[in-house]
Amino acid sequence: MAKHTFLPEGANFVQTVQPLRIGGKSFDRADRLEVLNPSDGKPLATIARAGRDETGAAIAAAKAAFDDGSRTTMSAHDRGRIVWNLADAIEDNVEALAQLDTLDNGKPHEKARGDVEWSARHFRYFAGWPDQIEGATIPVSTPDRLKYTRISPVGVCGLITPLNYPLSMASWKLAPGNTVVLKPSEETSLSALYFADPALEAGLPPSVLNVIPGYGRDAGAVLAAHDHVAKIGFTGSNNVGRHIVAASTGNLKKVSLELGGKAGNVIFEDADLDRAIPGAFWANFGNNGQSCMAGARLYIHENVYDQVRDGIVALAKGISVGPGLDQPGHDLGPVINERQMTKILGYVEGAVAEGASILTGGTRQGREGWFILPTVIDAVEDRMTIACEEVFGPVLTLHRFNDDADVVARVNATPYGLAVGLWSRDITRLRRMADALLAGTIWVNCWGETDAASPFGGMKQSGYGREMGKDAIELYSETKSIWLA
Ligand code: NAD
Repeated sequence: MAKHTFLPEGANFVQTVQPLRIGGKSFDRADRLEVLNPSDGKPLATIARAGRDETGAAIAAAKAAFDDGSRTTMSAHDRGRIVWNLADAIEDNVEALAQLDTLDNGKPHEKARGDVEWSARHFRYFAGWPDQIEGATIPVSTPDRLKYTRISPVGVCGLITPLNYPLSMASWKLAPGNTVVLKPSEETSLSALYFADPALEAGLPPSVLNVIPGYGRDAGAVLAAHDHVAKIGFTGSNNVGRHIVAASTGNLKKVSLELGGKAGNVIFEDADLDRAIPGAFWANFGNNGQSCMAGARLYIHENVYDQVRDGIVALAKGISVGPGLDQPGHDLGPVINERQMTKILGYVEGAVAEGASILTGGTRQGREGWFILPTVIDAVEDRMTIACEEVFGPVLTLHRFNDDADVVARVNATPYGLAVGLWSRDITRLRRMADALLAGTIWVNCWGETDAASPFGGMKQSGYGREMGKDAIELYSETKSIWLA
């Protein structure tokens, strides 16, 4: 019998209608988001929903905070201290935040806890930046001029985040330190709302973080179009990314996009298969395939094809799938909602109709919640729909190759360019491949490793801009050029 451990803070939180957080205050509203628990399909939480007016009010609060100058007069040291305190705030609330992400998203509690701890580390890293953001003095050709640069915050930022790593995706965008309106995914808003209160206690000025759960079509669209928003930091799907770019043209705001992926993962004949097989398995099934960086297309050299295929299928058959709060825990949880479950299973049916074959999985598990058995599909041709579109679920396709140049061309033959994986012992080959592959991240004999210090983002249609590391500071700043006569 599964045992649920659910802390009182988390339990109380989902039992209370969650208000919007604007200007350091909480606002209820008659319009609500009714959130369902993906593990059982039952009501989980009720959240006040930001519409156009509330989004406008949040932007006005952020603008007032940005304009009042306290940001620019606060020392870099003090700003860094607040970001450090935000890391403490996450660590102090790690269990409640992890449980909220588990309930909302469905992922196993242990994984959600890892995500939350990772978010705290993210703030720790960025706490070191404020007093290291240096401009330059530049020796221009007129020697009587002092020419220097200052790095300034870009202005009010609209941060729009997806459903799959709720607190972590917000932390990528919050930790570089700006005056923001955060619109989390309507599917997974709870941890962002919860975090708003400890963030205030940690010393964040009241209107610097405003949290407005709501639908993309109103709250998100208003943020993207609003004249007082200087920058949108977006993570989500390509279609929505296009809407955001189109909406941003009114005031030509800056936009950075972290979009979808269809990563190829390549196992060469000389790979260490004891590492490559589980590595490639979790590259795709980590976070239940609901990951931009999922290694969804597995290219296997024909000499090791049967061994890799059998190893992957054995792992898939040994996986336990179930509610995220169960103890002992499962390997995978449900997908986010019924619509997504139906869409994923539709991709699998479509693959079979196009001539592919299911080696394992391919069906829903149980009748309650939105669980899909880990699915491995063989005899996949690159032209098939399942090999071209982002499935965003626990489905892996297997592809055979026998030539290095051919596999590079095939892995690159996608509009996406977020990530690629390579498994081989041949360093010369790996270096050649890494140069030829078009992806923002290339993992070699590993997968999925990220670090707050390491830039992350996509090439081609996987987006533009890099988050994390020094690049994230640049993403949310402007360089001012000052000429002093
Ligand atoms: P989504 O695009 O459906 O939604 C993302 C966010 O956009 C949500 O907050 C949503 O409310 C908002 N939105 C929807 N319509 C909008 C509009 N017209 N204007 C403004 N905002 C709008 O994505 P999702 O289903 O939540 O997440 C899955 C997608 O995110 C996948 O494609 C995945 O690959 C991508 N993703 C990318 C990265 C990355 O780093 N590249 C990371 C995580 C997820």
